[in-house]
Amino acid sequence: MVKVSNIFNPEMETMSRKDMEALQLERLKETIRRSYENVPFHKENFDKAGVRPEDIQSLEDLQKVPFMKKTDLRENYPFKLFAVPPNKCARIHGSSGTKGKPTIVGYTHKDIENWAEIVARAIVAAGGRPGDIFHNAYGYGLFTGGLGLHYGIERLGATAVPVSGGNTPRQITLIQDFQPRGLSATPSYTLNIIEGMKKMGLNPRDTSIEYGIFGAEPWTEEMREQLEEELGIKAIDIYGLSEVMGPGVSIECHEAQDGLHIAEDHFLAEIINPETGEVLPYGEEGELVFTSLTKEAFPVIRYRTGDIASLNPEKCKCGRTTIRMSRIKGRIDDMLIIRGVNVFPTEIEAVLLGFSELAPHYQVVLKREGVLDTCEVQCEITPEYQQNASADDKERLIREISANMKDALGVTVVPCINEPNTLPRSEGKAIRIVDKRNQY
Ligand SMILES: [Zn+2]
Repeated sequence: MVKVSNIFNPEMETMSRKDMEALQLERLKETIRRSYENVPFHKENFDKAGVRPEDIQSLEDLQKVPFMKKTDLRENYPFKLFAVPPNKCARIHGSSGTKGKPTIVGYTHKDIENWAEIVARAIVAAGGRPGDIFHNAYGYGLFTGGLGLHYGIERLGATAVPVSGGNTPRQITLIQDFQPRGLSATPSYTLNIIEGMKKMGLNPRDTSIEYGIFGAEPWTEEMREQLEEELGIKAIDIYGLSEVMGPGVSIECHEAQDGLHIAEDHFLAEIINPETGEVLPYGEEGELVFTSLTKEAFPVIRYRTGDIASLNPEKCKCGRTTIRMSRIKGRIDDMLIIRGVNVFPTEIEAVLLGFSELAPHYQVVLKREGVLDTCEVQCEITPEYQQNASADDKERLIREISANMKDALGVTVVPCINEPNTLPRSEGKAIRIVDKRNQY
């Protein structure tokens, strides 16, 4: 029997596949009708493809509809993709992005309510419960992380500590004084907090924190082990992006920690071959594509996330029946092509975190020598190793890292080891790739 007390919304989270698909189809039709009527971009997209809203009579029919991309958001900046006037929105969020204009999204009161519920479900899946004190170190602002988690914490009946990112000593003081059970932050910033605790002579395992919700950047199983070991907690992966909603689109359950349950009553997921656009079967890896099913202000139809994952429809031991997506392997934009071989930074992270001599901070630096690209992996030794290792030991370490990278990635990278506390630390999203190929 399913213990429903561990599930925030049992009706939606344990629905049969048949009922879920029927609900999704009903909501999909409504989303398409509203988008077609209210957003010229969607109407044009449908018209160009020769598809009428009434042609969508099954979930498979969605495949007739063209994709939406991040560039569509930029080109329609700021409000042209909104299905309601911007002053009818309760809130506007955005992502800064590194190229050009930010991408802007809107939420009605109903959208905010739905989002809060989805995040409340996510916190319960992660092991949270009403009455928890929750330390929210995601950034507050246009970025969806901080406020996204915040409303979910309140909706659950837990207590939000809206600390936001940065000012690590204050974070540590508040964790000591407020005794939170839950924590949310990016994995890389959490490492920064752990390091700060050690510098203050504290044992990070001694805090009151029992579970952490980590996301907003791709991370690995090896990073999970590190966070769980260092803090003595369950480390849970959360996924979301502002274009689709924000954090909570999917979440791991603490029972299985094996794939992220998608809030399928709100989001319809597909996996496509990023080159051909062809929809791939369950289990195959490709680009994640989402269609929103309930959003009023900013509906997205077949939005290409740029994130690489696969889908698993098998029932989970936690009792939830919603489809699970795999941990994000990386973003297509972040994929490195080194001497013709595709490499994601997460694959480099997985190798580095296998070395106890190394601190879990790293940067990948791309350079051009003549016509050839080279890839340097800047890593950092731990203070303990620094104290005990000879120059020969360090040479040997470099050779071992290099050999393990070659085995795992199939390509040669150049590891460089740095003194402790020399690589930049993350205050939010870590910068993993530094591209110096067009510099002299
Ligand atoms: Zn589960």
